[in-house]
Amino acid sequence: MSRDTLITGLTPVQADGLACATCGADYMRVPVPHVPVGRSVTGSQVFACVGRLAGAAGGVLR
Ligand SMILES: [Zn+2]
Repeated sequence: MSRDTLITGLTPVQADGLACATCGADYMRVPVPHVPVGRSVTGSQVFACVGRLAGAAGGVLR
């Protein structure tokens, strides 16, 4: 998946890169490793938990 992938359908915190785009984990509270997976419509980087990426394709990310 490209880091420039546009990801839609996110909550405001997900779109700001403050929460996981796939499971919704709040990165301000949950210290889980995460990596950039794309950008939101606002241009902010969007992140997802490491280890969740394999199953993300059929979920929120399209
Ligand atoms: Zn997650």
